[in-house]
Amino acid sequence: IATLLLGKPVADALTQRVAARVRLLREQGTVPGLAIVRVGDAPSDLSYERAALKRCEAVGIEACVVALPADVSQRELLDAIDQVNADNGIHGCLLLRPLPPHVDEAMACERLDPAKDVDGVTMASLAGVFSGRPVGFAPCTAEAVMRVLGHHQVPLDGANVTVVGRSLVVGRPVSALLQAKNATVTMCHSHTRDLAASCRAADVVVVAAGRPGLLGKEAVRAGQVVIDVGTNWDDEAGRLTGDVAFDEVAPLVSAITPVPRGVGSVTTAVLADHVVTAAERSAR
Ligand code: NAD
Repeated sequence: IATLLLGKPVADALTQRVAARVRLLREQGTVPGLAIVRVGDAPSDLSYERAALKRCEAVGIEACVVALPADVSQRELLDAIDQVNADNGIHGCLLLRPLPPHVDEAMACERLDPAKDVDGVTMASLAGVFSGRPVGFAPCTAEAVMRVLGHHQVPLDGANVTVVGRSLVVGRPVSALLQAKNATVTMCHSHTRDLAASCRAADVVVVAAGRPGLLGKEAVRAGQVVIDVGTNWDDEAGRLTGDVAFDEVAPLVSAITPVPRGVGSVTTAVLADHVVTAAERSAR
């Protein structure tokens, strides 16, 4: 059976380092601040918000929630983001997404000051991710994947890595971050002809497709490391599942992240790290 790559030790180690940096910042008179902007009250938003608030409290980040009604107008949303931008006590902003369909999400994301864009939603942040320049921040989930691989010392230099999913939140930024570590990256998506063959050919497989059970035993082989980013609510069973058919894949591969308790447990620690980095940059 595969080694379980749990998120908790990764998050714990990062959280400790972040907390030490917060103590230093506070000694120098800067209290790192995060604003969470939420529209409506979707259960997934509320659960991520709770986890983020808990993490902030644990490390000493001052967090506040800007809760807007589900029927908020575009104008009101942009005004709320403008207020966050103007507030010197707020170093980072998490805009919970997806936003309701009646608002222009791309416009809302671009409104955010890139210096406060701790979840990589602005074009400036994405340019930083793809150019390797220290502008803005990578999306927290994409970086969480890298933190899991790094913490567990999975070799990436020269490795073949297949990424399933090409969204701007996970798949594409992860591919850029992997290439920065000298991995040879293959991108797969919904039009890929032979997904199983591309996955079997890789040393490391990262799956972020949002399709429960997408990767089964036909897509893996012995010796592989499988990172499952999928978070899918199984409404019938009322539980969270990944994109990997865990029960049939885990016995075959060398290491795998579970869902829950895998990558998802690391994202709020990365978020806290980004807020503190933003605060350090602004204190300079
Ligand atoms: P998305 O819907 O934006 O993108 C999905 C991608 O998967 C697309 O590029 C699509 O081409 C690809 N895809 C879909 N079906 C496919 C198939 N049958 N074969 C191959 N590729 C296929 O989703 P997203 O926002 O990137 O999220 C992906 C998953 O990651 C979701 O389950 C989401 O819930 C999860 N996620 C988790 C976290 C977290 O852990 N905190 C954060 C963000 C996203």
